[in-house]
Amino acid sequence: MSSSASADAIVLGAGPAGAAAAFQLASAGRRVILLEQQEAPGLANPCGGGMAASVQRWFPFDLTPAVDQVIRRVRFTWALEDPVTAELPGDAPFWIVRRRVLDVFLSARAQEAGAELRCSASAEAVGREGGLWHVRLAGGETLRAPALVVAEGSGSRHATALGLGPQRPRYASTISVELDCPVAEPDTARFEFGLVQHGFCWAFPRQGGTSIGVGTFIGQQPADADVVLNALLPSLGLAADAGRRRQGRLRIWDGHHPLHRQGVVVAGDAASLCDPFLAEGLRPALMSGCRAGEAVDRWLAGDGEALAGYSLRMRQDWGESMAWGKRIAQVFYRLPRVGYQLGIKRPTAPQRIAQILSGEMGYGDIAQRVIKRLLFQRG
Ligand SMILES: Cc1cc2nc3c(=O)[nH]c(=O)nc-3n(C[C@H](O)[C@H](O)[C@H](O)COP(=O)(O)OP(=O)(O)OC[C@H]3O[C@@H](n4cnc5c(N)ncnc54)[C@H](O)[C@@H]3O)c2cc1C
Repeated sequence: MSSSASADAIVLGAGPAGAAAAFQLASAGRRVILLEQQEAPGLANPCGGGMAASVQRWFPFDLTPAVDQVIRRVRFTWALEDPVTAELPGDAPFWIVRRRVLDVFLSARAQEAGAELRCSASAEAVGREGGLWHVRLAGGETLRAPALVVAEGSGSRHATALGLGPQRPRYASTISVELDCPVAEPDTARFEFGLVQHGFCWAFPRQGGTSIGVGTFIGQQPADADVVLNALLPSLGLAADAGRRRQGRLRIWDGHHPLHRQGVVVAGDAASLCDPFLAEGLRPALMSGCRAGEAVDRWLAGDGEALAGYSLRMRQDWGESMAWGKRIAQVFYRLPRVGYQLGIKRPTAPQRIAQILSGEMGYGDIAQRVIKRLLFQRG
């Protein structure tokens, strides 16, 4: 390490992607500073918390202390009717996590491995000089390191400026509500497709409550979010106006782009990895965070191809599936009623959906058949 460097690597953002990257780097013996602008990780990150249990494979420690609920069944409806239920196979459950718990849990593992977590530390300006990244914090202090991981989430200030990921990111818009209430079916996650134009709503049970939300994937803010929630909440036995509604924006996958430059990589939402069909962002955040950490460690050890290898692996293992997910989303959300009838109401669909949600299958495995069916068999 250069004598003026504060660390081997600086990680911007202690969400799932940043904490996973910091853990990998610290475990490899690197000096890491993990910066989080909030007072604590996960304090204000709106999220339904649904996540395939298969993410466990990327971590050497048990993730279940951060798991709030295990989902065994997924129910789809069209305008609150016409239900389709998919039983998730016993070995591939879907977890619900609380973000405050998950983000703190992962950051704590990174700290135990040796990472330095700095909260209330917002990275305001980033630049490279003399072979080192210079990160200026809100208080004026400047940190320096040869490597940088940008994991700032969907509101990333630095990814685009550093030429990482898409230069014109595409966003889904969300409205979410967290409700503390009795939960009738604690092991069932719900997806409702018929109420939202160009998107869907979800209701994910957790201990002592439900996370509810509306996501729109084509166009801007759903103008009818209040109308949608006023219909959805009573169907769950809740008051139509219950809870505080929070707006959010989510960078969604929109093409293959380099996720690295000299000494820097981008991971998670900041890299626009979120699934453009079902808004799954936690799994790619954890996958990319772990791989970004591994790649930066190898780069610091002198492997000049390591960061390009990271971009390539993320393209192969995630981007290829998302390219199909984007095509499915474009067709499905333009013809949602047809999509529901021909895509979700098929006898084999519940099994396929369970495999997608559990991470066992990618969109590429089903896409060509689904798109042909949606385009050519409308009737
Ligand atoms: C309403 C909603 C519901 C969702 N539900 C689900 C779901 O059920 N399942 C799923 O898989 N995905 C879901 N997602 C997507 C998921 O939340 C994201 O994909 C995931 O949080 C991405 O993780 P990340 O670490 O990349 O970014 P984030 O979780 O956004 O973390 C980034 C962190 O960086 C910090 N930060 C940002 N800028 C700076 C800076 N300059 N300096 C220091 N710190 C900084 C932020 O404070 C934040 O803590 C949902 C998203 C929304 C909006």
